[in-house]
Amino acid sequence: MLKQERYRHFVEYFSKNQPNAVTELHYNSPYELLVAVILSAQCTDKRINQVTPALFKRFPDAAALAASDADEIFTYIRSVSYPNNKTKHLAGMAKMLVERFNGVVPSDLNELQLLPGVGRKTANVIASVVFDAPAIAVDTHVFRVANRIGLTTRATTPLAVEKQLVQFLPENTLAIAHHWLILHGRYICVARTPKCEICPLTWFCKYYEQHNTETALLKAETVKIKKAKDAKKKKALNAISKELAKRSVDKDI
Ligand code: SF4
Repeated sequence: MLKQERYRHFVEYFSKNQPNAVTELHYNSPYELLVAVILSAQCTDKRINQVTPALFKRFPDAAALAASDADEIFTYIRSVSYPNNKTKHLAGMAKMLVERFNGVVPSDLNELQLLPGVGRKTANVIASVVFDAPAIAVDTHVFRVANRIGLTTRATTPLAVEKQLVQFLPENTLAIAHHWLILHGRYICVARTPKCEICPLTWFCKYYEQHNTETALLKAETVKIKKAKDAKKKKALNAISKELAKRSVDKDI
C-alpha cells in the first residue's frame, strides 16, 4: 500500500471515529497547560492530573509561581518523575514568563523554546492546543505509532517523524492527529506488545501486514519441515518392511 493511501485511511478513520480528541491533561488556561506539559515529561497524565489541582490553587498564575521558592514548588510535585529538575524548570519558566513575556504564554515556537523546561515537543503542544497552530508534537507514542502504521519511513528521530507527518498530513488535521496518535498508542498500540487483535487499523497498518506475512511464512516453513520429516520416516519404515518381508521369504526357502 502506498504511504499516501495509509495517510488517507488514517485521517478518514480518526476523523470519523475520534473527531473531538483532546489532551487528557486537565487545565484551564495556557499557563496551566504549560505547567502540566512540563510536568508530564516521562510521567503519566493521570499522575499529573493528581498533583496539578493543588499546585494551580497555590500558584494560579505565572506571577504567583515566580514569587515562590523552589522548596515550596517541590512539595507540590514530589510524586511526579524527576521532581528536582521539574522544580527548577517551573521556577525558571515562571520567572522568564513574568520578566520577558508579561506573564503571558507566547504563541511563537521559538519564543516558547526559550522558556526553561520547554523543548520542541512542549512548544508544539502549546502552539497547537492553545493557539491552534498547524504543528504536531512528537512524543514517544506518536513516534512509535506513526512508525508502526507506516506513516513514516526510516524516521529515526522525533524531528524526522515530525517533518514527515507535517509533509503528508492535511494542515488542518495536524493538531488533532497528535491526540489521535497519542491515544491510540496509550490504549491500543502499546509499546511492548501492540493489541492488534482489537485494533481497527489492521487493514492499513504496515507493522500488522509485515508481522502477519512473517507469521504466515514461518507457518509454511514449519509445515514444509514436518512434511519432509514424515516422508523420511515413511521411507525408513518401508525399507524395514521390505527387509523383513525378504527375510521371511529367505527363511521359507
Ligand atoms: S495493527 Fe497493531 S501495530 Fe498496527 S496500529 Fe494497530 S495495534 Fe498498532
